[in-house]
Amino acid sequence: MIINNLLNVLQFVVLTPLCSIVKASPIQDEHNRLRTGNTTGGKSPFARAYPMYEGWTHLQQASLQDAFDHALFMAANVLAYPHRDEIYPIYFQGDEDYEKVMDVFREIVGREPGDIHGAAIFKNILIDGLDRKKSCQNDPNNVLVAALLPGRVDRTIANIVCCEKCWNYPHMEDGIDCDDLGTTVSVKMSSLGGVILHELVHFDPMCVPSIGQQTEDIAWGPLSVRKLRQNEPEKACLNADNYKWYAQHLWWTVNCDRKFSGPRGSIDTYEPWCGIQGCQIQ
Ligand SMILES: [Zn+2]
Repeated sequence: MIINNLLNVLQFVVLTPLCSIVKASPIQDEHNRLRTGNTTGGKSPFARAYPMYEGWTHLQQASLQDAFDHALFMAANVLAYPHRDEIYPIYFQGDEDYEKVMDVFREIVGREPGDIHGAAIFKNILIDGLDRKKSCQNDPNNVLVAALLPGRVDRTIANIVCCEKCWNYPHMEDGIDCDDLGTTVSVKMSSLGGVILHELVHFDPMCVPSIGQQTEDIAWGPLSVRKLRQNEPEKACLNADNYKWYAQHLWWTVNCDRKFSGPRGSIDTYEPWCGIQGCQIQ
């Protein structure tokens, strides 16, 4: 069912002249085509640029590539489904920020005609398995999942590092089952795709044109992001994890075809691999 919904999402965001091509292609072909390399040319009408990967095992890289696709699917899902307006106010303030927030998701899905599976500028991202800046090693509390490190001079390039804790997150497509999610929004909804989505929201070309500044890490986790929305609503659209939780909540609402109530506190809030300190995605 989820695969079908993924295809529906893709069809929705695809520009009209390309519709017939996409409808004729199974989702797996889409994945393969997406992975044909870092190219902005070529024969395919879908030719686009994907991040570079370095320092990963084949299995790790495949997981990260899947997660990258899933991040794009979640962003496309936000733009595709009317449910977004029911769930939106839980995570962001209304009229002031609605278009700004949607613009961040539009940037991620890609605005240019050739960008339909993600912004072409993602070619400027290196998903770095070598952790050159030792971000993961130098994490004193052992709660860091991943981090986006923008270029010092040019912030339209960036490295994303994924620490060991990344591998605790399940795949969105086959690692999370609606039957296991219960009735509340919780960390059981967290996938590696969500981690990548959080990082893309930190990437300057995705957020600065829309919200006028870099996104921050003010709060992490399903409960904290709601509290931020309630207590300091003007800061919600600045906080990267608000985008992640909005997109994840909406994704599972659509794909499980049911509503989820708010998190119940610590049981729904903390990934077991980080404990009550809570995981951090920087
Ligand atoms: Zn962050």
